[in-house]
Amino acid sequence: MEFAYDAKTNEMVAELTAFMDSHVYPAEKTFHEQLAVLDNRWAWDSVPVLTELRAEARRRGLWNLFLPGSKGAGLTNLQYAPLAEITGRSIQLAPAVFNCAAPDTGNMEVLNEFGTEAQQRQWLEPLLAGEIRSAFAMTEPDVASSDATNVELSIVRDGDDYVINGRKWWITGAMNPNCAVFIVMGKTDPGSERHRQQSQILVPRDTPGLEVLRGMEVFGYDDNDHGGHAELRFTDVRVPVSNLIGEEGGGFAIAQARLGPGRIHHCMRAIGVAERAIEMMCRRAASRVAFGKPLAEQGVIRDWIAESRVRVEQLRLLVLKTAWLMDTVGNRGAHTEIQSIKIATPLTVQWILDKAIQVHGAGGVSQDFPLAAMYAGIRTLRFADGPDEVHKNALARTELKKHLAS
Ligand SMILES: Cc1cc2nc3c(=O)[nH]c(=O)nc-3n(C[C@H](O)[C@H](O)[C@H](O)COP(=O)(O)OP(=O)(O)OC[C@H]3O[C@@H](n4cnc5c(N)ncnc54)[C@H](O)[C@@H]3O)c2cc1C
Repeated sequence: MEFAYDAKTNEMVAELTAFMDSHVYPAEKTFHEQLAVLDNRWAWDSVPVLTELRAEARRRGLWNLFLPGSKGAGLTNLQYAPLAEITGRSIQLAPAVFNCAAPDTGNMEVLNEFGTEAQQRQWLEPLLAGEIRSAFAMTEPDVASSDATNVELSIVRDGDDYVINGRKWWITGAMNPNCAVFIVMGKTDPGSERHRQQSQILVPRDTPGLEVLRGMEVFGYDDNDHGGHAELRFTDVRVPVSNLIGEEGGGFAIAQARLGPGRIHHCMRAIGVAERAIEMMCRRAASRVAFGKPLAEQGVIRDWIAESRVRVEQLRLLVLKTAWLMDTVGNRGAHTEIQSIKIATPLTVQWILDKAIQVHGAGGVSQDFPLAAMYAGIRTLRFADGPDEVHKNALARTELKKHLAS
């Protein structure tokens, strides 16, 4: 068993860390200041300092790190894992700097794997170049969307077009006017087998009948630093049949294919969030004095710090093992581990953030530190991309099967 990263990974970790230190961390404050005075508060990717950082990252080859193969940086999951972790340390800024931010990453993966040549030319190329942004629209207000077979938006063939009707909400990135295209999941054949009823289709933002109704808030945050989360209404939205991704009835399978990498990317970045929180917790504990001594000398706080270190190390090992499995036996073979990290990561990181916030006192929940926003984002991961309970159900089923079979 080899616990070291390979030479290429070490080299990229060094390059990325140097760039984060020299350019990204120092720009965090400016990014938020410039974001606050934008004419359109949702046009986050037009913030000047971000545009400069993206150009420099691309020039240095620190670009599309998430995407395997010749169109991306060509890294394996195991090679990408520590890089994603580093970007997670500056979660509101860094993933976008390197064109590695969700949901564009998942959309690029889908277009790369299932898109036609024409779809790739029209949408994948500008996404890879960082010229446009995109969104993925699956969740609906009227149905329990953790069961993706529930989605009701209708996609009906009419000659050379599909006609789309329905509602979606929580569509990340969609408030941004530069979010040019939506990958929309709906039903093309409600009468067929449960997992063959769905299809995914590309809908350009400016298509008549598509309305962006409002932005949703996460614990009061509108998340304009990554394009918000929109409620959408589709009324007789008409797109050509060539906009279908893959085949009719293939939408559920495409969604599953997308979620494997998507989940592990979230987990990798979340470990970076935890590392930043531990660092902040230690600095604050060392510098703040209460009842005559630094907080760092209080046993309970040392316990939180030690516990955080133990938990994050355990988590990282499991995430790296999962990445290695995805590279060696494929996403399907790594299914159980993907579910395990999807359950373990947000809970663990949420625990660490809670302790970091506590050490900061009232400052911890304020706008002066990033901890509260980090907490809000991590909390949503306990149901986004599938609630803990759904993953636990499936994991338990797999575990029970081994014993019930004999
Ligand atoms: C910040 C944020 C960003 C998001 N971005 C997107 C996006 O870009 N695109 C998109 O399509 N969606 C997005 N979502 C939506 C997210 O994917 C859904 O919220 C998630 O899939 C759960 O669906 P639901 O909200 O309809 O919950 P429901 O399906 O109504 O489930 C509610 C609760 O029921 C319980 N439950 C469900 N099934 C089971 C079970 N089998 N066993 C036990 N308990 C169960 C769980 O506790 C679950 O949390 C986002 C959500 C958030 C908060």
